[in-house]
Amino acid sequence: MRRESIQPSSQLLPLQSGIIYGPVRSRRLGLSLGINLLPCGYKLCSFNCIYCQYGWTTKPTLAPTYQLRDLPRPGDVLAELWRALDALRAQEEPIDSITFAGNGEPTLYPDLAETIAGVKRVRDQFFPSAKVAILSNSSTVGREEVREALRLLDLRVMKLDAGSEELIRRINAPALPFHLEEIISGLKQLGDLTLQSLFVQGRVNNTDPDSVAIWIERVREIHPSLVQVYSLDRNPADRRVRKVDRFTLMCIAAQVQREAGVEAEVY
Ligand code: SF4
Repeated sequence: MRRESIQPSSQLLPLQSGIIYGPVRSRRLGLSLGINLLPCGYKLCSFNCIYCQYGWTTKPTLAPTYQLRDLPRPGDVLAELWRALDALRAQEEPIDSITFAGNGEPTLYPDLAETIAGVKRVRDQFFPSAKVAILSNSSTVGREEVREALRLLDLRVMKLDAGSEELIRRINAPALPFHLEEIISGLKQLGDLTLQSLFVQGRVNNTDPDSVAIWIERVREIHPSLVQVYSLDRNPADRRVRKVDRFTLMCIAAQVQREAGVEAEVY
């Protein structure tokens, strides 16, 4: 690999600097207030996606205990959320959703279930119709305790960018031991979920007919309520991957609807 090929793109999205961010106008979640359960100084993720808007993952997984010290406590999260929602209500700015996302993979947070339950209680005080959602990369969905936490949410948006382990390794570069069959089984057991699938072209391409066909097989197996088909919105970590045009995304969405029998939307 040539040296310049691993340089990050310029103009990456800066990391979130606190626990609560936004609200941001999301393509998929409306006006959404974000919750970052992860460190503010670095991205903490179990994947190292070539398209990540935050750049490369330098500290994968949650195993070293020093990383636990970098995480907020559930009480801090709820206090910050209370303050943010109180201010939004005072400004008469209703939100559509409160979303766990932020600087990496939110299911790596050790007190996830307790925090979700608390967030729903706070949400009920201010904007009871707002959905509490998560954007997850699915890497931990094989664990029952994670699935139990995820089931507490109103909306679970779970990643699956390809149908083969080989292609997932090239797109998402999982850092934790990764077994696609466990992920698929976990997603099936999770129940009601939205699948998010990001398509890219360039150095890695998951839009060719064979890749799409294998992905559709997996979608049929999981049978989500909805598939979100989308491409890059911001600069990727690896500048050699390219955004997929809207027509191609619409063809993929039409194909998955036809062949897997699930609703699909293009963003
Ligand atoms: S899962 Fe999300 S945060 Fe993690 S590397 Fe991929 S795009 Fe970035």
